[in-house]
Amino acid sequence: MKIVVLDGNTTNPGDLDWGFLTQFGECTIYDRTPRVLTVERAKDAEIVVTNKVVLDREVLEQLPKLQFIELLSTGYNVIDCDCARERGIPVSNIPAYSTDAVAQLVFAFILEFCNHVSVHNEAVKSGEWTNCPDFCFWKTGLTELGGKALGIIGFGRIGQRVSEIASAFGMRVLAYTPHPKHLDMGPGFSWASLDEVITESDFITLHCPLTPQTEHMVNGNFLQKMKPSAYLINTSRGPVVDEAALAQALNTGALAGAGVDVLSTEPPKADNPLLTAKNCLITPHIAWAGFETRGRLLQICKDNMEAFCAGTPIHVVNP
Ligand code: NAD
Repeated sequence: MKIVVLDGNTTNPGDLDWGFLTQFGECTIYDRTPRVLTVERAKDAEIVVTNKVVLDREVLEQLPKLQFIELLSTGYNVIDCDCARERGIPVSNIPAYSTDAVAQLVFAFILEFCNHVSVHNEAVKSGEWTNCPDFCFWKTGLTELGGKALGIIGFGRIGQRVSEIASAFGMRVLAYTPHPKHLDMGPGFSWASLDEVITESDFITLHCPLTPQTEHMVNGNFLQKMKPSAYLINTSRGPVVDEAALAQALNTGALAGAGVDVLSTEPPKADNPLLTAKNCLITPHIAWAGFETRGRLLQICKDNMEAFCAGTPIHVVNP
């Protein structure tokens, strides 16, 4: 088997070990692959491993030897799964490896909006406490999470973990997912319509995949219906949010703040309106990037490769 890893650098910048790949065949690992080189690098491979290098129809049709696509991510929007299915190529993703880590970042954003740790740290370091006439001061309103409503859109693995943590903070959870099923999520939890989530939540967090149905789900209309005191958190995929509409809502005070880990184009263009929007916290797609998290990712990648080589692929997203 010839195996090509197209963009290994973000998954393993050198602190983990790709050695396991050699048990499946001859392996070439590229740190990054620009689109113009994708076909050239992948054309002889039976297995292509990708995180964010796009394998759309145009590319897949030029890879006659390809038998298996191994993703290094949960989201699979970079692959034309229909085209892969037509060509008999299973696509396996890495489910669940980052559930805890993504849920943790959601609360890093939420807690920053409630406690403003970095704002206060900067104020203290710049001398404001030293020169303060009182024993304490605060720069912004401080808020408790208990009793606040957290709207969760997409109630899969990450949505459910976020719900568990929210309930430990005493929050009320309103969850929306297209096909709700019975789940025992404890007190404070209820299913809600999308409209109820939008209008009643103090925080909304997105945990749906990027699909044609969810692209720009958060648009001007959605944002207009949110409470002006509410916050939006997006750790799912950038295009789920209409960024121009979100920037406008933030800049006009129609929304209190947003925390986003993902943008429509990554890395973002310099003129992305969220880079300069008011009260918009942005992290560079790091929810999944903890050391332990990436270690778990590589272990599942190994399991997926073993299963494919044994003729029984697992975690297939295009059955
Ligand atoms: P999951 O498949 O377990 O859950 C997704 C949920 O979204 C499912 O319950 C599904 O029914 C629901 N859904 C589908 N269409 C919907 C719609 N139109 N409206 C509302 N809900 C809808 O996936 P997960 O493990 O919870 O991950 C969710 C997403 O998080 C992934 O698709 C990925 O894009 C993103 N993610 C981001 C990072 C990061 O580093 N920022 C890491 C991992 C995953």
